[in-house]
Amino acid sequence: MVLSKAAPHSDVSVHSTFASRYVRAPLPRFRMPEESIPKEAAYQIINDELMLDGNPRLNLASFVTTWMEPECDKLIMSSINKNYVDMDEYPVTTELQNRCVNMIAHLFNAPLEESETAIGCGTVGSSEAIMLAGLAFKRKWQNKRRAAGLPIDKPNIVTGANVQVCWEKFARYFEVELKEVNLRDGYYVMDPEKAAELVDENTICVAAILGSTLNGEFEDVKRLNDLLVEKNKETGWDTPIHVDAASGGFIAPFIYPDLEWDFRLPLVKSINVSGHKYGLVYAGIGWVIWRSKEDLPDELIFHINYLGADQPTFTLNFSKGSSQVIAQYYQLIRLGYEGYKNVMENCRDNMLVLKEGLEKTGRFNIVSKEEGVPLVAFTLKDNSHFDEFQVSHLLRRYGWIVPAYTMPPDAQHVTVLRVVIREDFSRTLAERIVIDIQKVLHELDALPVRVAEAATVAVSSEDIGGDGATENIAKKTALETTREITNAWKKFVMDRKKMNGKINGVC
Ligand SMILES: *Cc1c(COP(=O)(O)O)cnc(C)c1O
Repeated sequence: MVLSKAAPHSDVSVHSTFASRYVRAPLPRFRMPEESIPKEAAYQIINDELMLDGNPRLNLASFVTTWMEPECDKLIMSSINKNYVDMDEYPVTTELQNRCVNMIAHLFNAPLEESETAIGCGTVGSSEAIMLAGLAFKRKWQNKRRAAGLPIDKPNIVTGANVQVCWEKFARYFEVELKEVNLRDGYYVMDPEKAAELVDENTICVAAILGSTLNGEFEDVKRLNDLLVEKNKETGWDTPIHVDAASGGFIAPFIYPDLEWDFRLPLVKSINVSGHKYGLVYAGIGWVIWRSKEDLPDELIFHINYLGADQPTFTLNFSKGSSQVIAQYYQLIRLGYEGYKNVMENCRDNMLVLKEGLEKTGRFNIVSKEEGVPLVAFTLKDNSHFDEFQVSHLLRRYGWIVPAYTMPPDAQHVTVLRVVIREDFSRTLAERIVIDIQKVLHELDALPVRVAEAATVAVSSEDIGGDGATENIAKKTALETTREITNAWKKFVMDRKKMNGKINGVC
């Protein structure tokens, strides 16, 4: 969805150099053209315009997969015309999604009997998965309260202030109060003790994150579980846990198998994971898994029969493509446990190369952890001359997209740069970006010094009444420099304004 900001008067035309071989008349930008154009021209025009998009492989801001094997690309293209919701017409696609749900449920240690099938579904991403899981918690809480004759008008959910925006969406769209545990200096995830304190009788669940968007850190789900077990015993409330494992769900099982964060913990009732992050599939797939049938209220499941046989559905949308489900199945069987482990270990190794490279510059504090999502989040040790936004901005010149963002309350004064290591981020790139970051630091270091120097020259040449030519050059240089600095600051302030939403450019 796009809420377009363009004014109607900017309906300037779109046309392509090569397409002039096919069409001469320019196309309006915001209105449908009156006439058709040849297919070759349509292709050329769009292809030309898309050249100006960034290179997805150099986008270090995103966790989302940007590379898959050509064999999988082939499968994707051949299933692009299948509607996932037509389960009766495409029973094999449905079967593949069920296999994925079961494989992932086992990966998360769901307590399943030998022949029992897992409860879960494919979604467009973790956001949809979280909406569904949140709705299940809300409905379960309502049912229990209603049966006990208690009010159901003030549900709340407890999270850390570091949650991804989808939790805020869930809270606002489905009218649940979001109770956030604030962060503090040097501690950028939800503190389980504080979360447990915020829980009350209206809490539908506590959402913990396995892989915080901001610094990749895994929250201590085990500690949270233990605290809530205690609190539930005291209060009789039964507060459950949801784990948002959007990025960590395909990491922890492979490289931290002993870490207890999943269905091994009794209060964890549902888990979401993004297939399109470390599940290694292109954008458009997520998963939500419930611990057992009892954790997904029946009344949320719809049964339809107008596409053929009876089929249960629990999604926010109806139609969607099948390709991503098929691609997820491809990755699961192609890579297997061993393959995923190799990919994740490789990402972790490259993360370490980058982290050590940055440490060696002596200019940064690292705020990500070695155990977590393979990313490096870092802040400038000294930001008195320039800050992280300027570093981010200058890195774009070298083609790198490295976001800078401020932390949520109460750590707003901390600005972080973040590089996400994906499968396609090689060691060479890790080494290269360190070099480019050093160049950027050099450039920024030089900036205030030049002002000082120019000012000094101008003043001293006036003082000593030196020859006119020298004085002119000096003054001009000072003026030019001042202009340069003013422009740099203007740009910087504008950029800053743009950044002032909650968190931009991170997903
Ligand atoms: C990316 C992310 C989401 C949202 O996931 P999508 O798959 O992009 O919808 C939610 N939570 C966390 C922790 C994430 O990293």
